[in-house]
Amino acid sequence: FAAIVCSLITSLAIVIARRFLFSHRGIHGEVKSAIKRKEFILHFQLQVDARTGKVVGVEALVRWLHPERGLIYPDVFIPVLEEFGLMTELTELVVEQAAAEFADWTFTERFHLGINFPPDYFLSDKHGQGLISQAKLLKSRGIQLGLEITERQLLDQRAKAAITDLREFGLEVLIDDFGTGQTSLAMLESTPIDYLKIDKCFVDTIGSDSVNTPVLDAIIAMAHGLNLNLIAEGVEHRSQAEYLLARDVTLHQGYLYSKPKPLEQLSQLRQGQA
Ligand code: C2E
Ligand code: MG
Ligand code: MG
Ligand code: MG
Repeated sequence: FAAIVCSLITSLAIVIARRFLFSHRGIHGEVKSAIKRKEFILHFQLQVDARTGKVVGVEALVRWLHPERGLIYPDVFIPVLEEFGLMTELTELVVEQAAAEFADWTFTERFHLGINFPPDYFLSDKHGQGLISQAKLLKSRGIQLGLEITERQLLDQRAKAAITDLREFGLEVLIDDFGTGQTSLAMLESTPIDYLKIDKCFVDTIGSDSVNTPVLDAIIAMAHGLNLNLIAEGVEHRSQAEYLLARDVTLHQGYLYSKPKPLEQLSQLRQGQA
């Protein structure tokens, strides 16, 4: 039931995003040139060890810096890019941009850089080598590249094989929005995964004695049982952080710690640098 509520909320968000999109019909004609002109920028959101407050990594989140409309968020433009088959191009820009922004950063302790990968990215073979060499370069400076993928991507055997290969070459694999998709427990056991990111909608219900909390508790118990690391998404309130910490979920991402921001505005990051 909780999973149904979560997917309902997700579809509602998509409906709202599409409404907004229709009022922005103009962007349909503009996405191709936006890719060509590289009008996309990255914000980074901190990932924090909530026991100590230490920053352990960031997630890169793309925005379209439209010349007239200003900042446009991914829920609005990603469906359009998908329609035009441009998500692979966008992903390449994002990887390139993220690597460029961290080009003169060196970390003394392992620092995680999570990037979101769209469903069809791994269906073409030509991207693997580039990603592997990028990941090696980053790793030499203490930066661990992570692939944020969704449960759905593991259902495709070719994608799953490509993701498994990349992991063997040293990239981390994170399952994004975990709990809202269709993973079977058998698949979780048979797929090499480093982290599950607990979807925000489960975190949202903490403290509001809703039906969702037993599902959250079950996800946590299962992950611990399978020795999977967890990251809680969308942590906004201290009470949520405390609930998660009491259950040994120590890695948090959310507005409580930081909203996604341009790299130069994340002053907390400088501490971990060599
Ligand atoms: P996601 O990967 O699950 O990213 C987390 C989203 O939750 C981000 O929204 C982030 O700003 C938001 N968020 C984080 N903490 C909180 C919180 O405490 N409260 C609330 N209300 N929201 C929080 P954003 O940046 O709008 O991105 C939305 C989605 O768009 C992402 O979800 C991801 O699926 C997709 N996306 C973003 N950047 C990229 C990208 O470079 N490539 C691809 N393929 N997808 C991307
Ligand atoms: Mg993500
Ligand atoms: Mg997520
Ligand atoms: Mg999400």
